[in-house]
Amino acid sequence: MEETTATGGTAFDRRRFLGLTAATGAGLVLGSGLVLTAGAPALAAPVPTIHPTSEWGATPAAGAIQMLPQPPTKLFIHHTDSPNSTDYSLQHAYALARSIQNDHIKNRGWVDSGQQFTLTRGAHALEGRHRSLEALRRGDEHVQGAHCYAQNDFAVGIENEGNYMTAAPRAEHYAALVELSAYICAQFGIRAYQIYGHRNFNATDCPGDQLYAMLPRLRADVATRIGGDPTPAAWTTLRAGATGERVRALQYQLRAHGATVIADGSFGPGTESAVRTFQSSVHASVDGEAGPQTWNQLHRQLARGSSGEAVKAVQNQLNAAGIPVGTVDGAFGPATESGVRTFQTRAKFPVDGVVDPRTLARLTA
Ligand SMILES: [Zn+2]
Repeated sequence: MEETTATGGTAFDRRRFLGLTAATGAGLVLGSGLVLTAGAPALAAPVPTIHPTSEWGATPAAGAIQMLPQPPTKLFIHHTDSPNSTDYSLQHAYALARSIQNDHIKNRGWVDSGQQFTLTRGAHALEGRHRSLEALRRGDEHVQGAHCYAQNDFAVGIENEGNYMTAAPRAEHYAALVELSAYICAQFGIRAYQIYGHRNFNATDCPGDQLYAMLPRLRADVATRIGGDPTPAAWTTLRAGATGERVRALQYQLRAHGATVIADGSFGPGTESAVRTFQSSVHASVDGEAGPQTWNQLHRQLARGSSGEAVKAVQNQLNAAGIPVGTVDGAFGPATESGVRTFQTRAKFPVDGVVDPRTLARLTA
């Protein structure tokens, strides 16, 4: 954890989407192209016990809890960077939750616990920020937390008790993490490949080297339970001297976040400077190269109705990929959506017309 109140910025389409269709005897099948409206039933996963704030003695929030009208699209895994306790009792879990809340309100000035959920080494799951359990049960809204710079509008977070730089989580803890993650993903319609470590977005060690190394396994274990492909976005790193349409897409993305760089397809000093400014603004590692962390932070979900410079990046890449979508005008209309679907079909991705990280990564590969 160890961070933040900043939230992400640019407008994006807030439609809820899922690619989930049907249950089979073997599990649940990831379908294609199905757009569910808010409030539609999410894919079922076993319901884990999650101890609510009322149970562990939370103090009232110090301010208003911000409820956002669309579910999160990403799940972030953190570690508390606290001792690897051998007290696995529920009483210890309650005490940990109170301690975190107290720290976040008193020392960081936040309205409440930064994370939505806490998972202890004793495999007890607890509600963190107030109303997070209510939002999870509903599945169609999001409690804005404070656990990752520039992502709090889009990501729900689990704080895992302990420090996992050199130690791995206990088997019981990991098993509970799989169940909690699967339930969260199913309820909110988060795809398994949208499970991340905090370090995928900010300059931090969180969730520790050992737990971070387990995330591919976690994505796969969640996908086994809720369906879908666990393979995350594969970003292409761009750096000074690069040229071409991918660079132009990067420049459009930077412009979408307020940079004044010209989209000329040439990664020169101006682009490098804009990358550094952006990296600094989102608390990513500042190296002037557009690698996975930077792309993860640049990406905003785009769909029909979206507009702006980020849409131009998509339109430009579709044209460059031989899928003509007309003028690069920044308006995500029917032609752009059709182009995205064609591209997703070619890529063998779920075909939903929504530009999620995997689709943008492949477009700019
Ligand atoms: Zn973290």
